[in-house]
Amino acid sequence: MTIRAILHSLLHTTPATEDLGSPPADVAAIGRSLGGSLQLRHVDAGSCNGCELEITSAFGPVYDAERFGANLVASPRHADALIVTGPVTKNMVGPLRKTFDAMPEPRMVISIGDCARDCGEFKDGYGVAGAVGDFVPVDRDVPGCPPHPEAIVEALRGLTGR
Ligand code: SF4
Repeated sequence: MTIRAILHSLLHTTPATEDLGSPPADVAAIGRSLGGSLQLRHVDAGSCNGCELEITSAFGPVYDAERFGANLVASPRHADALIVTGPVTKNMVGPLRKTFDAMPEPRMVISIGDCARDCGEFKDGYGVAGAVGDFVPVDRDVPGCPPHPEAIVEALRGLTGR
């Protein structure tokens, strides 16, 4: 391929990003109170990793949650909201609570996937202690097994208002 052809293809390649439209009017007020920016700490409390794949996709180039003001951060001390996946296993009760306690107030919790909401496929499993809402207060949940990246982005936009 010639340099001219490469430049031509670079200049004429359209973005891969999906157009997800405008946010509903009622969420804009919530977003204004956060300044349109939402810092998120993720905790996998016992997921099968299906939900993680969809979160990764939600922050990838196609759905690109960052363009709506949502960012994943490395420390709960920098986070406005906690996103939690999976049922809460017995070993993860302590780490989940510690992560929540380390976040500055006001703080929110978003449960991602059916397992986080009500233990889903893993209900009554020998290693399962309960749903996310049994251990930390949940403000929003995103149902699905796993939820579609578009649903995850929509829930985040509901908080950033963008
Ligand atoms: S909701 Fe489905 S994809 Fe997500 S952790 Fe549970 S079983 Fe896995």
